[in-house]
Amino acid sequence: MSVRIGVIAVQGNVSEHVEAIERAATAAGREVDVVEIREAGLVPDCDALALPGGESTTIASLLELEGIDEEIRAHAEADRPILATCAGLIVAASDARDDRVETLDLIDASVDRNAFGRQVDSFETSLDVDGLDDPFHAVFIRAPVVSEVGPDVDVLATWDGRPVAVRDGSVVATAFHPELTADDRIHRLALFDRLRTETEA
Ligand code: GLN
Repeated sequence: MSVRIGVIAVQGNVSEHVEAIERAATAAGREVDVVEIREAGLVPDCDALALPGGESTTIASLLELEGIDEEIRAHAEADRPILATCAGLIVAASDARDDRVETLDLIDASVDRNAFGRQVDSFETSLDVDGLDDPFHAVFIRAPVVSEVGPDVDVLATWDGRPVAVRDGSVVATAFHPELTADDRIHRLALFDRLRTETEA
């Protein structure tokens, strides 16, 4: 059975996520229909969603303007998978510590934007990620960091002692950009592994 995965496409790294999801689907042995979402009405038909990186202030205000914000909240409340990356993590958090970002409150966590400072604007490193057998090559670009997590949030990876990948229920979020490498394991972990469990349950 084919699954439908929506990529929130109001702004940011959209095509990279579409390609990563298609690669992950092949690896997971799934047929997938990937839909780019720029307007309300499409999210309710999606089995899973990706919330890409970009500019969190812009993404958050466009989601609200288009009325997609409420649909994403309902998707998470129905316990459907979401992968949020970089600015997507900021938008998905409960608090971005920045009045310009109206967050969706999907993950019980506070984040700090651009947390690694100007000197290390962007960097790449190898990370151990819970649920993956081998390290993941992580690309950070003006990345946020998770500064506080609630009791039900699992920290999946840390860098320099700080959480950079977290899971809260059906929502997985990374401060880095898994869509920018050929390694689709995070997309599989966040979007497909949980679908398989649901189907088999
Ligand atoms: N710095 C951006 C923000 O705060 C996020 C960067 C990214 O998504 N690559 O929104």
